[in-house]
Amino acid sequence: MKSLYNDAEAKKYKIDLDLRVYTSRLLGADTSLVLHGGGNTSVKSTATDSCGDVVDVLLVKGSGWDLETIKAEGFASVRMDALLKMAELKELSDKDMVKGQRAAMIDQSAPNPSVEAILHAIIPFKFVDHTHADAVVTITNTQNGEEKIKELFGEKVLIIPYIMPGFVLAKLVYEMTRDVDWNSLEGIVLMNHGLFTFSDDAKISYEKTIELVDMAENYLFKRGAVLDIQNQSTTADLLELAKIRKEVSLIKESSIISVLNDSKEAIYFSKQNIEKIAIKGPLTPDHVIRTKRVPVILTDEFEKELQNFVEDYKQYFLENKKDEILLNPAPNFAILKGKGSLSFGKNAKEANIIKDINNHSFEAILKAEKLGGYKALGQKEIFEVEYWSLEQAKLKKSSDELEYGGKIVIIVDAVDEKAREKAFELSKKGAVVIAIDTNCEVEKIFSTGDIIGVKCDTDSDEDIKSLISFVVKSFGGIDMLIADKLQYKKLAEECTPFLELS
Ligand SMILES: [Zn+2]
Repeated sequence: MKSLYNDAEAKKYKIDLDLRVYTSRLLGADTSLVLHGGGNTSVKSTATDSCGDVVDVLLVKGSGWDLETIKAEGFASVRMDALLKMAELKELSDKDMVKGQRAAMIDQSAPNPSVEAILHAIIPFKFVDHTHADAVVTITNTQNGEEKIKELFGEKVLIIPYIMPGFVLAKLVYEMTRDVDWNSLEGIVLMNHGLFTFSDDAKISYEKTIELVDMAENYLFKRGAVLDIQNQSTTADLLELAKIRKEVSLIKESSIISVLNDSKEAIYFSKQNIEKIAIKGPLTPDHVIRTKRVPVILTDEFEKELQNFVEDYKQYFLENKKDEILLNPAPNFAILKGKGSLSFGKNAKEANIIKDINNHSFEAILKAEKLGGYKALGQKEIFEVEYWSLEQAKLKKSSDELEYGGKIVIIVDAVDEKAREKAFELSKKGAVVIAIDTNCEVEKIFSTGDIIGVKCDTDSDEDIKSLISFVVKSFGGIDMLIADKLQYKKLAEECTPFLELS
């Protein structure tokens, strides 16, 4: 792993927060470090409060922001004295932590601070970088993972056993570091979770992450935990994919988007001993709100397998619940035995986030298997995070229900103004719209936004087949065809079996 830090670029950033945004984005640019809202960063600085006094603050990533695209307004400015006081409390409920942190914010319009704000505050350095680096969690999530981390990093890092994120984690680090000489540490490894690095210098803090992750990658390489996957071939049955989407939509009680992952890595993974390795649990607990604890494994008997998954999920809920309310029991992703995987979301964005998480997890699991065996957290620990109100709050922000949410529409003659308007209207209402036309202009017109422009000759069997294959593999089915059925007979005929499953 190489540092992306550019001294000339960094010199442009004169204030603490701008430099913090710069190195946060460097971390976010590498998906093997953080994925979709994962990880968090902070900088300790000063701010002027409403009384005109200059106070010490922690500028910490706001909950729900993504390091890849974060801006200055994505950071919350919280009084340091309040955060340090919280670290000394014996107990603190989630509700009181959120309330206390909000009350200590300098600008109330900023987002809620990350759930790890107290932990960032107690680390006595200006810059703090936290990632869920694949290479590090691959090693922690193996048999005797802690011993391997010790062997790799020696005294360089402090190892923290797994504990739920939030106040209890901050408290544990606080207690474990009372007598520690922070200057002797280069980082903190959180078992089954990730890595913290820190320094008074933004570049050093960022590059410590890169250096430690690079060491972890080399460790995996030297111990043969590498993958060399040759091309894998498989043929997914399109109608079967649409039937699976329908079944999952019925369980979810609303239409979903189902994205096929038939990359050579996903197919290779699905050909392994998946009944054993795919159902051990997620790579880091914060994936669980996206992926659920385990996937459903599907064969030709997918209806029965989906029902069994639902029953198992309800059982898992009953075994672990205190006073929580059951979430929808449908799976969020599936391993199609020998054929790759499917990810399910209420829109394409959500399904593709799960697909990205799957890609990183499949690789990590396969490597961990070569390093003595993949070992995830137990059901109880995963349940706690899955049903944690602060995690569920992250999802609620993006769950607006739209009239055509999860629906897939093909619209013909999309260069024509009337059809174009219709395409935009349906897209605004939540539909995935595939706008087709014989005129190649269609690809330019719909090159941005949520509508996909496809050049397609509706008299060509080949074009129609490739269109349908693209739509069903990318989104799961076809719910609506906006075309004159007589004029577009061939297209209508090919779409009909899918429309009937809508
Ligand atoms: Zn984390």
